[in-house]
Amino acid sequence: MNGKTEVVVVGGGYGGVTAANRLARRDGMSVTLVNPRADFVERIRLHQLVTGSDDAVEDFRKIMGAQVRLVIDTVTRIDAAGRQVSLAGGGSLSYDYLVYAVGSGAVGPGVPGAAEFTHRVSDLEGAERLRSALAATSASEPVTVVGAGPTGLETAAELAEAGRRVTLVCGDVLGPSLHARVRRPVARRLTELGVAVLEGPSARVTEVTPDRVRLDGGRELPSAVTIWTAGFGVPDLAARSGLSTDAEGRLITDTTLTSVDDERIVAAGDAGVMPDHPFRMSCQAAVQLGPAAADTILRRIAGKKAAPVRMFFAGQCLSLGRDEGVTQFSYPDDKVNALRISGRPGAGVKEIACRFTLNKLVSGARKAGSRS
Ligand SMILES: Cc1cc2nc3c(=O)[nH]c(=O)nc-3n(C[C@H](O)[C@H](O)[C@H](O)COP(=O)(O)OP(=O)(O)OC[C@H]3O[C@@H](n4cnc5c(N)ncnc54)[C@H](O)[C@@H]3O)c2cc1C
Repeated sequence: MNGKTEVVVVGGGYGGVTAANRLARRDGMSVTLVNPRADFVERIRLHQLVTGSDDAVEDFRKIMGAQVRLVIDTVTRIDAAGRQVSLAGGGSLSYDYLVYAVGSGAVGPGVPGAAEFTHRVSDLEGAERLRSALAATSASEPVTVVGAGPTGLETAAELAEAGRRVTLVCGDVLGPSLHARVRRPVARRLTELGVAVLEGPSARVTEVTPDRVRLDGGRELPSAVTIWTAGFGVPDLAARSGLSTDAEGRLITDTTLTSVDDERIVAAGDAGVMPDHPFRMSCQAAVQLGPAAADTILRRIAGKKAAPVRMFFAGQCLSLGRDEGVTQFSYPDDKVNALRISGRPGAGVKEIACRFTLNKLVSGARKAGSRS
């Protein structure tokens, strides 16, 4: 230790990077961010990586303050009592405060054959494998996308626009998080792109084989490439480290994002949960939770009471291929309403949202470069 307050940020996604940049702006802070990759993954563009319209990665040097030390490794355990983390590459890092920002990824589907024979788009490595699998099949071979939440809708549209034969198995309803009236332009666009949309109680996958998907009721769909997008799961690091988690494995915190077990551990992003203040796992939440987690730590260091986090949601932006999209507006508490922007302007809003998010990280890095 060097007389400074040592903060270890575990995970370099939207939550971790925004927290690290905010912390690094203050004198007297030494911030180390641990992430398994040398590049930042723009997860909100991973469906674009699959078709090649974006590579979905950015250099950490562009989006993270120069004073933040990047350690390329994976945290395997948090020792809360000893205030240190163990690294997969060997060794450990001590901390005064820890930001838990390990994010989310694919959830274990729990359907026979799904773990072996489906692809994921929710993390970089999964999206890269999917791109290779698609490249190894001809465009005429059938592709099945399972799950019609935002990730499934965007993936199905992107692939169909790229000329693939896509069936979207919704599980129940198309776009469950959308307002009923906003579902219509989404369904229309998918139909225009030639996506076969299966909705309703029988549109549930019960088994996956290397070349087929079986639905509730016995119907079988031929499928050369099957993509599982239903739901996000979180890493089990908190649970493995003996910290309190919910049934999904998210670190349980109070409304200041502080772990209920230890005031030195603060969560940012998808991997934390506030039972009294639930929020949707999203980039939109993570970029607000990162700075809020940093503020909780800074207030605690200053001997002040940490303040409850306040979040503001504007809506959900969906790209439906490169040419069209739908923006679903919401009330500030994330409850959706019937307002929308669809068509080409909808795609424009989504693109602006992606660029705005990245620019926010870049400007955070610049501010972190000049200390107050
Ligand atoms: C295709 C797609 C499209 C999306 N579109 C949108 C959208 O339009 N709008 C929106 O709001 N959200 C969207 N999301 C969701 C959004 O990407 C996530 O909610 C967001 O990335 C969460 O940010 P985070 O910082 O919590 O975690 P992440 O971005 O998941 O980052 C977590 C980081 O922690 C690292 N990590 C994990 N475990 C460890 C460990 N043990 N040690 C060290 N590092 C670790 C991970 O490798 C990763 O780099 C989309 C997601 C996908 C997959």
